[in-house]
Amino acid sequence: HKSTRKEGNGAVQGSNAVKMDHIMMLREVSRQKYLKKREQDKVEELGDDIQDEQYLFEGLKLTEAEHCDLRYKKELYGLVKKSSEEADSVKEYRMPESYDQEGSINQDKRFSAASKCHRDPNAENTGKPFAEQEAWEQNQRGKAILKFGSRDRKQRGDEYEFVFDNQIEFIKAAVMDSMNDEQESVIEPTEKSGGRSAFDVLQEERKALPIYQYREELLQAVNDHQVLVIVGETGSGKTTQIPQYLHEAGFTKVGKIGCTQPRRVAAMSVAARVSQEMGVKVGHEVGYAIRFEDCTSKKTVLKYMTDGMLLRELLGEPALASYSVLMVDEAHERTLSTDILFGLVKDIARFRPDLKLLISSATLDAEKFSDYFDFAPIFKIPGRRYPVDIHFTKAPEADYLDAAVVTALQIHLTQPPGDGDILIFLTGQEEIETVEEILKHRLQGFGAKIAELIICPIYANLRTELQAKIFKPTPQGARKCVLATNIAETSLTIDGIKYVIDPGFCKMKSYNPRTGMESLLVAPISKASADQRAGRSGRTGPGKCFRLYTAHIYYNDLEDNTVPEIKRSNLSNVVLTLKSLGIHNLLNFDFMDPPSTEALLKALELLYALGALNKHGELTKVGRRMAEFPLDPMLSKMIVASEKYKCSEEIISIAAMLSVGNSIFYRPNNKKVLADNARMYFHVGNSGDHIALLNVYNSWKETDYSTQWCHENFIQVRSMRRARDIRDQLKRLLERVEIALTSNLNDLEAIKKAITSGFFPNSAVMQKNGLYRTVKLPQTVYIHPSSGLLQAPPSWVIYHELVLTSKEYMRQVTELKPEWLVEIAPHYFQLKD
Ligand code: ADP
Ligand code: MG
Repeated sequence: HKSTRKEGNGAVQGSNAVKMDHIMMLREVSRQKYLKKREQDKVEELGDDIQDEQYLFEGLKLTEAEHCDLRYKKELYGLVKKSSEEADSVKEYRMPESYDQEGSINQDKRFSAASKCHRDPNAENTGKPFAEQEAWEQNQRGKAILKFGSRDRKQRGDEYEFVFDNQIEFIKAAVMDSMNDEQESVIEPTEKSGGRSAFDVLQEERKALPIYQYREELLQAVNDHQVLVIVGETGSGKTTQIPQYLHEAGFTKVGKIGCTQPRRVAAMSVAARVSQEMGVKVGHEVGYAIRFEDCTSKKTVLKYMTDGMLLRELLGEPALASYSVLMVDEAHERTLSTDILFGLVKDIARFRPDLKLLISSATLDAEKFSDYFDFAPIFKIPGRRYPVDIHFTKAPEADYLDAAVVTALQIHLTQPPGDGDILIFLTGQEEIETVEEILKHRLQGFGAKIAELIICPIYANLRTELQAKIFKPTPQGARKCVLATNIAETSLTIDGIKYVIDPGFCKMKSYNPRTGMESLLVAPISKASADQRAGRSGRTGPGKCFRLYTAHIYYNDLEDNTVPEIKRSNLSNVVLTLKSLGIHNLLNFDFMDPPSTEALLKALELLYALGALNKHGELTKVGRRMAEFPLDPMLSKMIVASEKYKCSEEIISIAAMLSVGNSIFYRPNNKKVLADNARMYFHVGNSGDHIALLNVYNSWKETDYSTQWCHENFIQVRSMRRARDIRDQLKRLLERVEIALTSNLNDLEAIKKAITSGFFPNSAVMQKNGLYRTVKLPQTVYIHPSSGLLQAPPSWVIYHELVLTSKEYMRQVTELKPEWLVEIAPHYFQLKD
């Protein structure tokens, strides 16, 4: 888009001075909170200052009306302050992820990431990441107090200036042009009443989508060409409509229509929507499949699934024989699985001329897809997009969560509620929960004085019923505020969004092929992402996007495009899948963007060490069995090895618990000691974190999967239920690879040996200085604070994963005997020399 930079004050301006003052005070309180985190005593001083200013205020001779106004403001100030204090003491349920120590470190990480990105070119480099931010804040604060103190009647005109000083200042930079020239199409809102059934309303909504006008042309194009690249704005109806059109046109008479999505939430949510539109139950004609959850049946003709699921399906059905059409959706996301699918389906399409292949994408770099698929024609769906005003902050914002909350409140308090909803992009569940909590508490301070703000979070682990909430129409007189991850960038379209708040970060996977370490870090987004995010506000009318970073950062620091995942991932899983599909020469595989040779070799080396490949790089029997499990190769190997140690019952429980992630235990802020004690109870005899997870699972099972028991033991019942589901599936897969279910609970050594069979590359040994060093590639690592082994660290350990925060932490740690390494993986430890 055009990058003309128009200077000017684009701050959200309201006419109501009192309202603006609320925000000012909110801003003050939140600023205090922020400072308090870092400089406790200094903030207390400042708090007193503010009190003093109030007295000073009272010393002035004021009119009755002014007194009244002041009392009102003070009352509000008190309310807000109280709610903010309550917010401080509110019990927070936090995952082990945010263990005190690590939590604060995490925060620092993020700040330093932010300050790296949010560099002010004019500021001197003091070498301190916070210096410039601090200086700016001090300056702002100084200004505010000065004005507050010296305010008298003559200066009443300063009120607004003062108020704006304390908001986040935005500069309106550019209007993002609408993508299409024809701007005539003004969308008629669909009437949702008038005695028509919900089904009829849905049918009308379908007809109002931009894609509807091109239905016949699209069907014709699919008939004429085997491979078609389809491009259209997010929300034009690609995902929900195209499979239905093809179904209506008879394509499902000869086979299924599959549609892949990069994210599981999108697969589930879209399947739900389409089944509503077709008037059927999810899992019948329309179904979805995500890892560990298959919601399809014999009847299913429209199948939405994650790209990873289709990869797994290819193992059992290499020619995709049951499909007549395959739509690789959200192709622009370039996830690892989508990139691999490209290569595979391109090949399948060559020997299956009856298979229709659709590649659909939201952005306009369709030529790249077309070139790759032997110059397939591009079908463009002209979208409707209204202009979007882009606002940047004037100065960097160090605490972007706080800035996001304040911006949302600024919008909510100054704009009429009926005019549009707010969408905030955050990096993950934890951030979403934090922002939800802060917002709720700040809103409580206003009581019924303001319009209702309905907060709708959306992330992968959210319960399905709650996920559906984001799509419910906003009631009259209220406003919706959606808190979403990247999922709302292109995968899900939420109608009615007018304001987008974009802090400019997302969680990003990165991989170092040298160390073999993969980590998930909060990183700045790309320009392309930022523009997609902004575009979400201009779907139903002109929109506004508030970027919580400066224009300078956008133009100078952000990358143009996100690097495809294949360039920043551990490839061992993909390589195992490809090998199982009979693709031997990986260097010749038709990658759209090839991964580094180093990363490929690293993956081959690991698979060889695990015994999945032989010296010639061919799949072994062990490798074939491993490939049956939808898990990382190290976990799959652990399961396959459990046969030898006769402990498959225990090992699949452990694998299921590990697959749930780090959300088993919780630690309410006000009951940390109790929670920690409860957790240590499962660590009998310093036997390690894996065995502790097994103990948790077995104890829960003994209580007949009791919810009450989970509450008593500070365990998240939802995570446990998920573990049980995953375990059930692993049990079925064991059957498939003909490994008997055997229990060997009394032989902990056997269980640990099975774990070692998969995880020997993750072994570490304690040095004389008391620090651990990894065995394979000397690197200093630390036991994670959540580990039960922290109190009595053994000299040899094996870990499930490394997480990088301030240090490289080993998470889920178990003791190991060094002789096991030689017994289990002699070739690997020879490789070292
Ligand atoms: P595209 O794939 O082109 O981005 P979609 O087909 O996903 O577009 O969306 C088309 C319309 O369907 C959007 O206006 C959106 O609001 C609606 N929609 C999609 N999914 C859901 C859902 N789960 N619930 C309600 N509405 C939905
Ligand atoms: Mg879509």
